[in-house]
Amino acid sequence: MTDTDGTAGLDRRLADALERLGHGMRSLAQRTAREHGLTPLQQQAVLALARESRVRREVAALAQEFDVTTPTMSDAVAALERKELVTRSPGSDGRRRSLALTPAGAEVALRLSSWDGPLTAALAALPDADRATTLHTLLRVIADLQRTGVVSVARTCTTCRFFGPDEHPDPAAPHHCHLLRIPLPLAGLRTDCPKHEPQTPDASTVPRRQRTPAP
Ligand code: SF4
Repeated sequence: MTDTDGTAGLDRRLADALERLGHGMRSLAQRTAREHGLTPLQQQAVLALARESRVRREVAALAQEFDVTTPTMSDAVAALERKELVTRSPGSDGRRRSLALTPAGAEVALRLSSWDGPLTAALAALPDADRATTLHTLLRVIADLQRTGVVSVARTCTTCRFFGPDEHPDPAAPHHCHLLRIPLPLAGLRTDCPKHEPQTPDASTVPRRQRTPAP
């Protein structure tokens, strides 16, 4: 068969390219973590604790986010405590421990914040429209992978119960956020929204007006 449009094996090549990217990023993460005396998992924990989020401050939530067991994450957090980068204090129920960065931990997080600089620089060189389309496409893939259980935690627009897909005619801003009540431009889709709430299995069948919370 003639591959007139060059699409034969396109999915395979796309998967290969993403896998290649993943290898590169893992290697970069190992290098930056080593430079700061951390393991890649400890680095991820420090960066996660530095980001504003109400759900990431317990060991179990961090473990779920990074697809490791709770004991593995507990070991990483214990190592960060020994390095005086993280502290634990009683959570609201007085039992589960809430995690926070120490001032030294916040300083390390600041130095680590540009660990993926080579990737962001490469992306910044792309035209705006390409970046917006790439973000949209990747978030759709992530949503599919979450539905099939490959990705466990994703606080992205495409996995949020307030996400209204394709509700506007503008191709640059076709989606809608029913919580914020605004159109969502492709370039403005969130990858880690603090207001994200997971979709229920039948979310797509719920009428839109019911997905809009009371003011
Ligand atoms: S609440 Fe946040 S994640 Fe959900 S659709 Fe709105 S902007 Fe996106």
